[in-house]
Amino acid sequence: MMLQGKTAVVTGASRGIGKAIALELAKEGAFVVINYNGSTEKAQEVKAEIEKNGGSAQIFQCDVSQYEECQTFINEVIKKYGKIDILINNAGITKDGLLMRMTEEDFDRVLDVNLKGTFHTIRFVSRQMMKQRYGRIVNMASVVGISGNAGQANYAASKAGVIGLTKAAAKELASRGVTVNAVAPGFIETDMTDQLPEKIREAVIGQIPLGTFGKPEDVAKTVVFLASDHASYITGQVIQVDGGMAI
Ligand code: NAP
Repeated sequence: MMLQGKTAVVTGASRGIGKAIALELAKEGAFVVINYNGSTEKAQEVKAEIEKNGGSAQIFQCDVSQYEECQTFINEVIKKYGKIDILINNAGITKDGLLMRMTEEDFDRVLDVNLKGTFHTIRFVSRQMMKQRYGRIVNMASVVGISGNAGQANYAASKAGVIGLTKAAAKELASRGVTVNAVAPGFIETDMTDQLPEKIREAVIGQIPLGTFGKPEDVAKTVVFLASDHASYITGQVIQVDGGMAI
């Protein structure tokens, strides 16, 4: 097991990609803190599944868009478990719409959760990781943050911001043994993509050389690699897990 003895925090781990990441980290021996916002029951189910497989985990509610809530969240995890080795910033939302109709509220909320949420947890975990002289941070970007997408100006801006934040944090924290990388998924089968109309799904699949949507596990395996010591000499990178979509 690659992550025996490590403590990991995964934001937005009650469903979808975050859930797959939590399960995969636990499979590799990490103790996992499952963060969620509203889905308490689903978070409890993820914890139960980890425990059924012989791992250990705890759940923690926190809206990552809130600066002070994140401060309390991270400080309580450090106080209770003594350290945080791995931070996975996965929590994210979409509020799609054409630019000329997009409300300020929808723009702000997506930026607040996806980008500021990622800043908040890095902000509060970095002192601890620097003190430990060890840390692995993986941020969830998106291919949309690289190539843009009509109808997703807020989401694309938030994910492009996550990529910039990843590179800046990588430069700031490298001298203390902390690596910071991003994963940029293409289209992955989760609640987020379930809402896509069949016609759009077919059009998207036509643009994916590997010919299918990805699975949450495809992203989770890449995240676990970046969180492990196999990736010790990788920092500031964005790894696309997109079936070749953005080639
Ligand atoms: P999802 O199925 O909709 O799950 C989103 C997760 O984020 C849930 O666990 C949710 O918690 C949590 N969350 C939402 N707002 C939160 C907040 N304010 N504070 C804390 N947690 C919050 O999404 P997904 O498809 O797994 O996506 C996960 C990440 O991958 C996101 O960053 C997304 O942008 C990115 N991504 C996804 C795709 C894709 O095709 N699915 C592609 C590229 C990138 P609750 O259940 O408690 O609401």
